[in-house]
Formats: sequence, C-alpha cells, structure tokens
Amino acid sequence: MADSKSGYELGEVVIAEDAIEKRVAELGSEITTDYRDSAPLLVGVLKGAMIFMSDLIRELDFPLEIDMMAISSYGSSTSTSGVVRILKDLDTDLTGRHVLIVEDIVDSGLTLSYLTRNLLSRNPASLEVCALIVKDGKSRHIDMIKYIGFHIPPSFVVGYGLDIGERFRNLRQIYNYSGVTEH
Ligand code: 5GP
Repeated sequence: MADSKSGYELGEVVIAEDAIEKRVAELGSEITTDYRDSAPLLVGVLKGAMIFMSDLIRELDFPLEIDMMAISSYGSSTSTSGVVRILKDLDTDLTGRHVLIVEDIVDSGLTLSYLTRNLLSRNPASLEVCALIVKDGKSRHIDMIKYIGFHIPPSFVVGYGLDIGERFRNLRQIYNYSGVTEH
C-alpha cells in the first residue's frame, strides 16, 4: 500500500491523514471568505506543493486560476543551500492580480523570501502566502505567511508531496524521516 510505512527510513507520523484533511478544509473556508470576490491566481510551488494545492483548490468555492512555478531548493540532501533558481516560470502575467502563493513547507524561509521578492517585482495587486507547514525555530520571514496549516518541530519530514530524493511524495500522511538511506 502506498501509504504504509514501507521501510526503516520512515519515522513516526507527524501529521495524520485526517488532520491534514480537516486543516485543508479549514484553510479553504478561510481563503474562500477572504478571496471570494477577487478572482485570485494561486501559484503553486512545484513539486512539493502539488498535492496540497490540488486538495486546497477543491475546498475553494469561488472563481480562481492556478499557475505553477518550479524553483530549486534542496537536492537530495536535507539542508537548504540558500541558492534559489527558477526552473519553470509562470505562464501568467501578475500585473494587477491578487496572487496567493501555495507552498509546501517553510524551513529557513529563504526560498519563500526569494519567491515573494521575485513575484512582488511583477506588480501584483496583492501577494499573500499559504504554507501547509512551518518549521518552528529556524523559520524566518514567518510574517509573510498569512495562512499556515501546521507548525512542526524542525526535523525533516516526507509524504503528502514532500520528498527525499524524489521518494515518498505519494504518502497520504506526513512522516519524520530518519535520515537513514539505502543508497
Ligand atoms: P527553506 O528555503 O525554507 O529552508 O526551504 C524550503 C524548501 O525546502 C521547501 O519548499 C521544500 O522543498 C524543502 N524542505 C524544507 N524542509 C523540508 C522537509 O522537512 N522535508 C522536505 N521533503 N523538504 C523540505
């Protein structure tokens, strides 16, 4: 089964499937209240936010558009390099648009800081951030995040879109990753 603990690398469940489902629905209703009249553009950050974004937009009850952007952050290691590169840019012109960035997880905040500066330079009418997870402790730039799904301790996690070396994105829950690999 795709979401079973299929190996010794996975630690305990950090966020269970039902908790994710409930929180995504809550975020959806908050965002619906705030954006129902502004036809926003939701910008998903590939690849990690893909699963969260697809669940979140189905909880939004108003006209919206989506676009995706891919940026480099971690390779297959578990610490941030601070170097951010756009691998795939948006197809949409942001001028005058109400933009909501949808992020998977904020650790140091470097990726988000780069991304918000970059998107603000494109003259949107407004720019806000929705992050599924914020790691306590290290995270800076938290004030930029309007909608936060969960706060977790600063350990490396996988599942629900989050990977290590491209593995585990398909898990339905979020697990601690022990750091032991078979490679
Ligand atoms: P930051 O720039 O905030 O340090 O890192 C943000 C990016 O690093 C996230 O978008 C994500 O791609 C990756 N990242 C940070 N922490 C984790 C984690 O615990 N697990 C996984 N799989 N990726 C993480």
